Formats: sequence, C-alpha cells, structure tokens
Amino acid sequence: MPDTTPDHGPSTAAVHAGEPRQRVEHSITPAIFQAATYTFVDTAALIDFQEGRVAREEYGRYGNPTVRAAEAKLAALESPQGDAAALLCPSGMSAITTTILSMVPSGGHLILTDDCYRRTRQFVQTLLARLGVEHTVVPACDYAALADAVRPGQTRLILSESPTNPYLRVADLSQVVAIARQHRVKTLIDATFATPHNLRPLDHGIDLVIHSCTKYMGGHNDLLAGVVIGNPEIISALRQSQGILGGICDPHSAYLLMRGLKTFALRMDRHNSTGMAVARFLESHPRVVRVHYPGLESHPDHAVAIDQMRGFGGVVSFEVEGDLESTARFIDSLRIPYIAPSLGGVESLVEQPALMSFYELTSEQRLAVGMRDNLVRLSCGIEDAEDLIADLKQALEQL
Ligand SMILES: *Cc1c(COP(=O)(O)O)cnc(C)c1O
Repeated sequence: MPDTTPDHGPSTAAVHAGEPRQRVEHSITPAIFQAATYTFVDTAALIDFQEGRVAREEYGRYGNPTVRAAEAKLAALESPQGDAAALLCPSGMSAITTTILSMVPSGGHLILTDDCYRRTRQFVQTLLARLGVEHTVVPACDYAALADAVRPGQTRLILSESPTNPYLRVADLSQVVAIARQHRVKTLIDATFATPHNLRPLDHGIDLVIHSCTKYMGGHNDLLAGVVIGNPEIISALRQSQGILGGICDPHSAYLLMRGLKTFALRMDRHNSTGMAVARFLESHPRVVRVHYPGLESHPDHAVAIDQMRGFGGVVSFEVEGDLESTARFIDSLRIPYIAPSLGGVESLVEQPALMSFYELTSEQRLAVGMRDNLVRLSCGIEDAEDLIADLKQALEQL
C-alpha cells in the first residue's frame, strides 16, 4: 500500500511519508519496540532466517522495528521518488563517523571544507589521521581549490556542508558533483542546516546526505539522532559497519523523531519565514555590521541559494557593533531566545560562537579560523516573528 506519492505537498509528506496504512494493532501511532533481542520459535525458523528466506529482526544492535519505521520516513522525505534508503544513528556525529570510517580506507584521502562542523573536522584531523587516512581542507565554495585537492586514485570522499555554520555558505552542488564524478569520488553533504524541506542534495547527484536530526528534524530539543541517506547499496554497507561499531539509535528516540516529523513542514515554513524577516530587520539596523543569511541579496551565495533551495532556514548569523564583552551584554539583554548550543528547535536559541564553541581559543586564534568576537548566531524558533524582532530591537538599543 503506497504511503505518499512524489506529487504530494510537503505537509502531507511530513504526516504520511514512509508510513504503512496498515498499522500495528491498528494504532495510529507507531509502536515502540523496547526489545534487545528477538526470538525464534524453533530451529527451523532460525535456519529460514539464516538462509535469507524470511526478513525479520535478529538482535537489537542489527535493527529495531521502531528505528526502521523512522528510517523509512526519513528516506521518503529526502527522496520522495523512493530510491533512497536511510540509516538512523544515535547522533549526527555518529552518522558522520560511521559513514567516513566505512567509506575511507587506510591510506585513502578525503577532502573537507574549512567551515564544516568543528567535531567533523576534529574527527578527520585526529582519530582518522591516526588510522592513516589523509585529508585536505579547502575553503568553502572554492571550486578551483576543490578540484586541485583531488588526488586521483587516492581520494575517496568529498565532504561538505550546505549551508555551513555559522556563515551559511551554500555549496554549488552541481560543481561539487562535476568535480567528484570526473575522478569517481563519492560525495557527502551534511545538510543539517537545510533539511530536505529546503534542499535535496540527492536530486543534484550527491551520493549521500547526512542530517543531525537533533536539530530541525526532531525539532523539539528533546532528542539526539542523526541519519545518513542515499543509495540503498551504500546504506546497506554502512548498516553492516554500524552493527560492528555499535552506535545505534534507541527506539524511544526514533519514536520521538517520528513524532517531531509530523509537524516538520509546518515548522520549516515558520523557520524560513521568520529567518527571512529577522535577517531583513537586522540588515536594516544601524548597530548591526553585517548579516549572514543566504536569503539576503548581500550574501555571497545568494544566487546559488535561490537556485537550489526552497527556503533558507531559521539560523541567522550577524555581527553587532561591539567587542567580545558588549556582544555578550547584547545576548544577555535578549529575553526570548535561550543561550544554548544547538539550533532548529521550536525554542529560539542564541549563542556567541566565540564563547560557546571556540571558548578555549584566544581572540587571535579565533580570527584565524574566521570566528569574530562580535558574531552572534541566532536560531529562530517558531515563536512569532514580530516578538523576536521586538526583542532584538530592544537588545540592540542597549548596545
Ligand atoms: C549539530 C550538528 C552536527 C552534530 O550532530 P549531533 O546530533 O549533535 O551529533 C553535525 N553537523 C552539523 C552541521 C550540526 O549542526
């Protein structure tokens, strides 16, 4: 029985995609299978399973029906045509490390962009380097540098984010794919900041997409999860690796994720419209030096973003007129957003990257990695845009 078709709108897809009409015990909600292992009625049933005559669960680390239900939904949202599979992981980082560890052999080489998620870069530069995997870091959106970095025969993976954090650079996926295909290199996009609501990297020829579902897809700041989505054969190989590495998503988080996804399209439309309104307000404010938001004409990747994306999300980065201390005071004057890492949830969150993610560095070291002291990252939640703007206005007046 089909669930949704590719022509259904995003809200219909969010509610129904990947879900069977036939429900377990007729329950409208998916069941949470809280099981560590699965039984065989007799040895013949075990042999049937071993011989591949029946598809069924075996042991908790190799699969769980609730987790599989979430995977079906995530795959259907990323690829409504139905030609992708998904592997759910206990966090976004787990999705990233499981994927890279499985795809890049010792002696291999991978390329990543300079403003990718900090822990991804640390993984590649420390743990992966120890295993004899080499890497090259190239500036985001510098396609000549990307092409130059490819080592034919050795490079296995190009890893990029889109949009990036915190400057929301948008990769031109057609250029990334063209370079990769020339050298038979696989491509992986961390599209956490976009979500399939705003960007579908697989449609552009990207091999694998990763999301931290902790952010927009879960959407309620109440779970950690990650997913990797792409060609079913690759996903199947990654699933084998996951069974060995052992980092798996628990059924309760998978349930919460599916619950969050019901309102995914509604929330994303709100994040998109509020992000845009807040970015425009900030750009017009005399105490704001610069706003980084791909929906603004002033953003370096605006043209690419308009071409590839449906919306630009709820994260707005901006530089206020101030130093480390006065920027911190501005943040403390805000009444609606909470100060916290993370993004993409219903509650607005705000952070000063210099003090949140780059605290141990000096101002000079931070500048060297492009992190200005007066930079603020605001993740607009689903509150009323007018209230958020009024709040930003009063805090800017105190700068
Ligand atoms: C948060 C985040 C991650 C890591 O995800 P976790 O769920 O926290 O492990 C990876 N990439 C991006 C872009 C993120 O924002």
